[in-house]
Amino acid sequence: MQVPLFTPERMIRSLRRDLLEAIEGVLDRGQFILGSEVRFLEQELALRIGVPAAIGVASGTDALLIALLALGIQPGDEVVTTPFTFAATATTVVRAGARPVFADIAPDTFNLDPARMTEALSPRTRAVIPVHLYGHPCDMEPILACSARNGGYGPGVTGEPVEQSLFIIEDAAQALGAQYQGKPAGAIGDAGCFSFFPTKPLGAFGDGGLVVTRHPSLEPRFRSLRAHGQSGRKYYHDEPGLNSRLDEMQAALLRVRLRRIDEWEAERREAAALYGEVIGDLSGRAGVEIVLPMERPGCRHVYHQYTVRVPARDAVQEALSQRGIGTAVYYPWPLHLQECFRNLGYRPGNFPEAERACREVLSLPMFPGITAGELTCVSEALVEAAAVGKKKGK
Ligand SMILES: *Cc1c(COP(=O)(O)O)cnc(C)c1O
Repeated sequence: MQVPLFTPERMIRSLRRDLLEAIEGVLDRGQFILGSEVRFLEQELALRIGVPAAIGVASGTDALLIALLALGIQPGDEVVTTPFTFAATATTVVRAGARPVFADIAPDTFNLDPARMTEALSPRTRAVIPVHLYGHPCDMEPILACSARNGGYGPGVTGEPVEQSLFIIEDAAQALGAQYQGKPAGAIGDAGCFSFFPTKPLGAFGDGGLVVTRHPSLEPRFRSLRAHGQSGRKYYHDEPGLNSRLDEMQAALLRVRLRRIDEWEAERREAAALYGEVIGDLSGRAGVEIVLPMERPGCRHVYHQYTVRVPARDAVQEALSQRGIGTAVYYPWPLHLQECFRNLGYRPGNFPEAERACREVLSLPMFPGITAGELTCVSEALVEAAAVGKKKGK
């Protein structure tokens, strides 16, 4: 049985009529930039995430950049984040003119370790970007406490960011629907950033993103930054902004997908439970060590990815590929060792947990409509491949 890592095919099949109808609606209205579909989607997502403001933008990457700019992050500032994430989490810090400072991850969730984060703070630190990797929320409480001790978000009256504040920007690109102590991911920090990249929990049919905030006073700045720095009259610019709007067409299609998002999230959680049961059982009997993803108490994992740790990972991945089973390594190389951050001066060994994760992780097939038969087949193939790897290793 062949099982792809991801396919939108079943999702599209089940929504085809509604998707085509949404496209026709946009064509008929003839408004392609910032029309009613974007506005409705922003309202629907603000409600779902539990924030007063949600702003559609061109990508998750731009959501991060706009959040950094809106919070006043600038040259000379430092921003602490994890080295075990997609590059955009930290490249946007450089784009804002600031310096990324990395801190190691907690091995059980793969997310920024608050203790390591605290050690990485300096008088120049202006923001922290926790990432809810794979759909599991980062441990936010100690990070929030740190932010509060350092001024938190500004004085509320004018809403202007305070010079000395430590802001929290959540990279929730993989975590729409995830919860930390009952709070939705993205609504916990000062800003939350989401991606509509096609494979993400709410995927578009092209690029798209969303930036949200629990501070109503920040909304105008977000809206201005995404549209050339215009806040009032057209062609009058307050600051050099971006052209980063969510397409009207994408918004219309996203609204169709949004109607089913709870169903697909439940499906992923069920799939994860089945993977856990079958892999746990088979690997126990075969005597191979496969570390399954966990859900910490008080956390709701949405399993954007189902990621295990496995010995001889590359050989296991190759064996699965031979059998027609798609897998992926998110991510094979940590950010602190990437060429694009070489000037930061990090070395191998700086963040041992992130480096070990890069060698051990493997994400298994997960997509809307994946069947129990497929999940079982993948589990069996995984344990067999890992058992072969173990024999060879001896
Ligand atoms: C996908 C992703 C991004 C970037 O989102 P795009 O929409 O692809 O620009 C940023 N951070 C993380 C953790 C992501 O997974």
